[in-house]
This record gives sequence, C-alpha cells and structure tokens, in this order.
Amino acid sequence: MSVLGTESRPLRVAIVGSGPAGFYAAESLFKSGKAVHVDIFDRLPTPYGLVRAGVAPDHQKLKSVIRIYEKIAEVPNFHFLGNVTVGEDVTVDELKRFYDAVILASGAETDRRLGIPGEDLPGSHTATEFVGWYNGHPDYQDRKFDLSGKVAVVVGQGNVAMDVSRILSKTVNELKETDITQSALDVLAQSRIKEVYVIGRRGAVQAKFTPPEIKEFAELEDCDPVVDPAELELGPADKAELEDAKNVHARKNLAALREFATRAPRNVNRKCVFRFFWSPIRLEGKDRVTTLVLEKNRLTGEPFRQKAVGTGETMTMPCDILFRSVGYKGVAIRGLPFDQSEGVVPNEKGRITENGTPIPGLYVAGWIKRGPSGVIGTNKPCSVESVESLLADLETLPPCAVPDSGGLITLLNGRGVRVITFADWRRIDLAEVEKGKERGKPREKFLSREDMLSILD
Ligand code: NAP
Repeated sequence: MSVLGTESRPLRVAIVGSGPAGFYAAESLFKSGKAVHVDIFDRLPTPYGLVRAGVAPDHQKLKSVIRIYEKIAEVPNFHFLGNVTVGEDVTVDELKRFYDAVILASGAETDRRLGIPGEDLPGSHTATEFVGWYNGHPDYQDRKFDLSGKVAVVVGQGNVAMDVSRILSKTVNELKETDITQSALDVLAQSRIKEVYVIGRRGAVQAKFTPPEIKEFAELEDCDPVVDPAELELGPADKAELEDAKNVHARKNLAALREFATRAPRNVNRKCVFRFFWSPIRLEGKDRVTTLVLEKNRLTGEPFRQKAVGTGETMTMPCDILFRSVGYKGVAIRGLPFDQSEGVVPNEKGRITENGTPIPGLYVAGWIKRGPSGVIGTNKPCSVESVESLLADLETLPPCAVPDSGGLITLLNGRGVRVITFADWRRIDLAEVEKGKERGKPREKFLSREDMLSILD
C-alpha cells in the first residue's frame, strides 16, 4: 500500500491557479479522508482568479463564493503561494521534486480572435482587457479606452458581452458603490457613448447569455434596451430548439427580448441595441476604428447544431470603439502538452496526457481542462473528477524526492521571487476594504503588484 496520504507522509499536491477550479480541487482533496498537504500557486499576489478579476463589479453577490474559499484556506495544511508564476519562476518539473502531484488550474487567460481585417486597429479591444481594467487586474491598468465617441460595439452574445455592455450602459451612480476601480469609474464618468450595439452571429434562441443577465437591461437607470422584432422571427429549427423541455434558458431569454422589442422608449440618454444574425467581416479606419462592416447571416443545420452562414448582404455602421467578446482561450504552460486549436491541456478525466498516455502525477482542472464554459459552480464537479483520478492513481504515484515546501520557497527566494502567503493576502484584503470604506465601496483594489507588496513592508 502507498504511504502517500497517511499521517506520517501526507500526500503533497501543488495546485497551479487559485481561481474556483483550484479551490474546489483543494476542497475535494481535504474531503478525501487522506492526509493531504496543498500548496496553491498564483502568479498574482491575490487569490480567487476570475472571481476577483472577472466577475462584474456590480455582481457582488456572485463574489460571496469567496467565503467558501476562505473556509478552505483555513485548513491547516492549506498554503497560498502568491506572486509565483509557474512556468517562469519555477518549472513544472521542479515542482515535481517537491510535490507528489501537480494539478494545473490556470484557467483561460487569453481571447479567441475574430480573424478579420482591421481587428487590431486602435479602438478595437478584447473584452478581457476591458474587464481586467475595470476590475483592477494589474496586467491591464495601462490600457486606454477612448469613450469620447457615440457608438460602442460589443461582438459576441455570451455573459462576458453582457457584462461589458452593461458597464458601458450604466451611469456612474449605478456603479459607484461597487468594487469597480476608481480610475475606471473616472473614465466611465466622462463617457460620451450613447449607443451600445451587441452583435450576435446567430439568433436570439442560440444566444449564450443567461436570463438573469439579459433581464438586467430592463432595469437600467439611463439606458433603454432595444431589439428589432424582425430579428426575433423564428425558423422551424429554432422552434424545435425552444420546444426542448430542457431549454428553459432560451425560452426565458426570448421572452425578455420580446418584451424589449415591444416596450415604449423612455426619455433616457443611452440605448443598448441587441442585433442578431450579423457577423463582423471588416473593421475600417485610418488611425483608429471608425467603421464596422457586417454580413447578414442565415442559419443552417439541425436544431442545436445551427451554424451561421453569410448571405452576401452587408451593412456598414459607424463604430467609435469595439470590444471583441467571442470567448476566452487557454495559454500553454512551459513543459506541458497543449492542444493549440482548442486552447486546453489534453487530458482524460483530468489526467494530463501526451499522445493519449497519462503523464504520472500531472492533472488538470477547470477551463484549462474543458475550455471556457459554465458558471463558477461548474468548476466544482470538474475539479472533483480530476481529484478522483488523482486519488485512484495513489498506489502507483511515485513519492516526490523532497517532501518539504521550505526547500521550494528557498529556491524561489534565491531567484528573487517574493512569495505571498495567505496571511499576507489577508493584510492586502483588509487594506483594500479599508480604502473602499472612504468611498462607500466594498473595497478599493490596489492596481499594481508593487502597491500590493508595499503595504506588507
Ligand atoms: P461564451 O458564452 O462562449 O460566448 C461567446 C460568444 O461569442 C457567443 O455569442 C458566440 O457565438 C460568439 N462568437 C464566437 N466566435 C465568434 C465569431 N467568430 N464571430 C462572432 N461571434 C462569435 O463566452 P463568454 O461570454 O466569454 O463567457 C465564458 C463563460 O463564462 C461562459 O460560460 C459564461 O456563461 C461565463 N460567464 C458567466 C457570467 C455570469 O454568470 N454572470 C459572467 C461572465 C461569464 P456562437 O454562440 O454563435 O458561438
């Protein structure tokens, strides 16, 4: 029988990424009944991944899941090692000297591309940049968003597109008591955007956003949601999709959009227009984007497999700023296999594979395992599955050479890396909450690693 997981030799696991998938993996390990030591790494000095830097600031309730993660962090054998970039500060091979298993839970850090001319013109941004910027992610604080024009376009109709469109559509009054950064709020306060267009390549029935998110547009202070009823007409395959008992989400979305299409306009300053069956084919402009060219689509294929196909009909619209919100994509970690086309690490039930064969001791969980889909809670069963695979492998797992995190920390310190503990993070957390109080906000985030670290000195 393996000694790993016993009181005399706890199973040592390194989890790379402290977002929901990482925390649920830790929780699942602690609930396994084995003696386990978990070190969870993050490249930022702050934990919680997209719960901190992705979830919209006006969705504070969603962030309450952090309390569950705080409980997990209270387990004595849990350690946070923040400000450490695995793949750069330390390699996965080096981690394997100190841990019996490594679980990669690093999420999907980059964006899918549209692949159209003009995509990289100034004024064309990824949703990731904008979301990271207003949420205080240190990597995006140097981004500039010129909101001095009238028309903003958001491409894509997932929940990230909803977040971006809603933030552009809300007033400062609606955002000022959230944890949006003050610097973002100051820029948004000067916004002259009057029209936000949210562009879907398929129809309302196929839209990826969820009912609570679309319904929020009915309640905005100074912005009306607008839909052309002609774009809500249904084909036979759409009707079949709607009739599927499980497709509650599409029925609710459609009901909300039909209500938008019939409501009387209010005397407000902004409108948010949801368009369906249009694909961007080109962005135009001399020094920056000024015009967007779209092609009308029709749908072909079986219900639930309908694809957008261009009809040749085009439309040109003014566009002062554009946000591409067409899905995230994972980034390869040095030394690990990677499926470039899918943006995920190849795996079987969470076991990382190379040419179809599992690599002993290496696992993956969350978006980097299955792609960027689902809500925060979807990561729980995903991480549980990976941990079950790990535990099933325990008998054959070779124990690591140095079962001691101290050696790793010495190695990191020797490389000039300042490792942030959970106690350090608590101090950063408290300082942010304190700073927020002055402005009636849940917190005012530090915008750079340096600022976060300086309060520890
Ligand atoms: P998503 O849900 O996959 O939506 C991507 C959108 O981009 C879809 O409308 C998709 O259209 C469109 N798209 C993709 N390629 C395109 C192209 N080449 N041209 C035009 N449109 C294109 O992704 P997401 O919005 O980034 O969200 C990621 C995950 O996070 C989702 O599971 C989401 O629910 C979750 N999330 C949840 C919340 C929340 O719970 N409030 C908030 C934010 C994010 P097709 O459908 O035609 O592919």
